[in-house]
Amino acid sequence: MKRSRYWQQFTGKNDRNIGINAKVSGRVVHLAGLIHELSASELARLIAEKKLSSREATRAYLDRIAQIDPTLRAFNETYETEALDAADAIDRKVSRGNALGPLAGVPMALKDNLCSIQGRTTCSSRMLQNFRSPYDATVVSRLASAGAVILGKTNLDEFAMGSSTENSAFGPTRNPWKTTCVPGGSSGGSAAAVAARLCAAALGSDTGGSIRQPAALCGIVGLKPTYGLVSRYGLVAFASSLDQIGPMTQDVRDAALLLNVIAGPDPKDSTSWPAAAADYLKDLESRPPHVRIGLPKEFFGDGLSNEVAGAIAAAVEYFKQHGAEIIPVSLPHTRYGIAAYYVIAPAEASSNLARYDGVHYGHRTNNARDLFELYSASRAEGFGPEVQRRIMLGTYALSSGYYDAYYLRAQKVRQLIKEDFDRAFESCDVILSPTTPDVAFDLGAKSGDPLAMYLCDVFTVTCNIAGIPGMSIPCGFSASGLPIGMQFLGPVFSESLMLRLARLYEAGHEWNKRIPRPILETASAA
Ligand code: GLN
Repeated sequence: MKRSRYWQQFTGKNDRNIGINAKVSGRVVHLAGLIHELSASELARLIAEKKLSSREATRAYLDRIAQIDPTLRAFNETYETEALDAADAIDRKVSRGNALGPLAGVPMALKDNLCSIQGRTTCSSRMLQNFRSPYDATVVSRLASAGAVILGKTNLDEFAMGSSTENSAFGPTRNPWKTTCVPGGSSGGSAAAVAARLCAAALGSDTGGSIRQPAALCGIVGLKPTYGLVSRYGLVAFASSLDQIGPMTQDVRDAALLLNVIAGPDPKDSTSWPAAAADYLKDLESRPPHVRIGLPKEFFGDGLSNEVAGAIAAAVEYFKQHGAEIIPVSLPHTRYGIAAYYVIAPAEASSNLARYDGVHYGHRTNNARDLFELYSASRAEGFGPEVQRRIMLGTYALSSGYYDAYYLRAQKVRQLIKEDFDRAFESCDVILSPTTPDVAFDLGAKSGDPLAMYLCDVFTVTCNIAGIPGMSIPCGFSASGLPIGMQFLGPVFSESLMLRLARLYEAGHEWNKRIPRPILETASAA
């Protein structure tokens, strides 16, 4: 437990003054000020070893949420009573010596587009403001079987459409590193909650970058698995051929731990890959074999900030020193990625969102004189402007006469993008790139300009288009103190290799040990 150094470094406080006693490795230490600095893996271990109870951990997080979340607004809803009950149930299992799941007692958060019987599943939309799911998403039941304690549901851009969490019908989430900035999106609530240590880990969803981009802007680890590796059953559909659920964590080990829990076949999702998933923790700490890292020239052109470029260059240098071979590669169709994505994703969304008609479920207007008005007014009242824009774009792209010119053409570009990656992976094992062109931007800076907002996804969308895995890990800070993320992209099912490489980098840097200070100051002033 060499945590007090970090605690003092980043808070200026001495944890020994604040705290409860807990036995760690045979000695008594004061843990209260430290619980939120523990990773999910460390928490799970301490709970299983009876050095800390799940109740203590859960209480500590709930207290932090109460103190800090009014500023951040990372959570749409929290489940205090249920979380403490779940924690007590785990503590009883521990004291009885029952078998424990790998996340037993660990307080976590869920993006609010993952269906759970507990609480509401709103997608941060007025349309689903009061929706209670009658079933749990597969990932939610898997977390429960692994013993995780769910603290609450996190904010997102409405229906996961956006890159800043400003499209939430319930108001934006703020970036814990600088509260005038966005946390990224659409999984901005999950990213902010993990970064500010309001939960030990969280799940997000990624259709065009929504795990990796907010992970980068909040300084955490985010992994978008290979399409089909994680069941989408119970993930409210945005663009079904692109959506994947993945872990958002403080460090690489936690990402591997969570992926172990959520990955694997599911008969309830016909697109889930039938083979058993790998053990992502196995070999995580061992040095990866001779690795060829590809640098795609198209990801390092105009529009990339100097600070981000510098951080990536330093990371490349680090990998070189650790024996990696650096290979220049080309992904020539990257420039059509945004255009293809913003045809395909809205097209699928327009179809997926047709179910919200004011009749089956969701918001229903009080102002309809006939059936047509019931549909149109319910949808006009229930959906926010960005969702309406996507539905109109998608409906247009799919309409007869335009289908060939837009949707079919975008699907052809999709194939070309996939072939770019196939070719690149003949000469390299993994691709390294920035996750985002720049660090977090100010709230409001792009909300009036949809095209500027769409360009935030320039480095992330091609991964979903090709169905390959992608991962963002922290790789430094800007002069203004905002986190920078770097992205790994690999061939399908190369998560193990990506995680090992990410761990190799993290072991030499530990950016993830920094905790956002402004939030702590806000909290201690409160
Ligand atoms: N920012 C992208 C969009 O607005 C990606 C969203 C996502 O991955 N859910 O569509």
